[in-house]
Amino acid sequence: MSGPGNALDFSGRVVLVTGGGGGIGSAVAAAFNQAGARVFATDLEGCPGPDGTEFLAADLARPEAAREMVDVIRRRAGRLDCLIHAAGITRDAVLWKMDDDAWRAVLSVNLDAAFYLLKAATPLLRETGNGAVVLLASINGERGKFGQANYAASKAGLVALGKTAALELGRFGIRVNSIAPGWIETPMTKGIPEEYRRRAIDETALGRLGEPIDVAGAALFLCSNLARHVTGQVLRVDGGQLTS
Ligand code: NAD
Repeated sequence: MSGPGNALDFSGRVVLVTGGGGGIGSAVAAAFNQAGARVFATDLEGCPGPDGTEFLAADLARPEAAREMVDVIRRRAGRLDCLIHAAGITRDAVLWKMDDDAWRAVLSVNLDAAFYLLKAATPLLRETGNGAVVLLASINGERGKFGQANYAASKAGLVALGKTAALELGRFGIRVNSIAPGWIETPMTKGIPEEYRRRAIDETALGRLGEPIDVAGAALFLCSNLARHVTGQVLRVDGGQLTS
């Protein structure tokens, strides 16, 4: 590679974005679509991705969902170059009041699904010789967060899963990285009281909260040849909310 050139041109490449109907996922799906990729956006029934993407309805809490989705992509597109896992949920409560269902539900969508997706997608990703995976973690997985034992544990687990996958899949030319966003303005953060929002702004170095497009840019970079020597890393996209 002699220079950046057209490294952000994804023409001819096939991308799967989970949570493709959500705030960050839809921005990621739209960005790859604009960059020329064929994009499969998966989400729960009734939450389609942006225009120009192909919607696959699936409940990722079902372990078989990942395999079924990858089979559809194999049949329809015959290849898979990039996987971005942006599906995620929160079920907040202090841990001594957190019921089992809230723990299980968050671990299953945020973390278990990533394992099933990686496992199902590896054969297709390795065929390209240049596959890339991005897992949506969170700064709260690194620092912990009051009321988010399930969510923080799932995101810390994603980072460890991503690093391990990077080690195991590097021999197939597959790179695996995580993005750890700070507070991003999406449906996930919409209902949080203004007091917490203010506090998050105060924590940042840039004095503002992130937008989905900020995460989409990082995902494009990590999946592109600009990042061809980057794997097993965690890229914070948080306006400097966590710098330690
Ligand atoms: P969002 O709620 O807008 O989008 C999440 C999407 O996941 C939704 O479209 C939802 O339908 C989908 N989803 C939920 N359960 C599912 C299931 N069982 N099967 C399939 N899809 C399911 O949230 P977002 O803010 O766009 O978050 C995207 C990712 O980024 C998540 O993993 C989230 O944890 C992470 N993140 C977000 C923030 C933030 O501040 N918004 C910060 C750090 C990390």
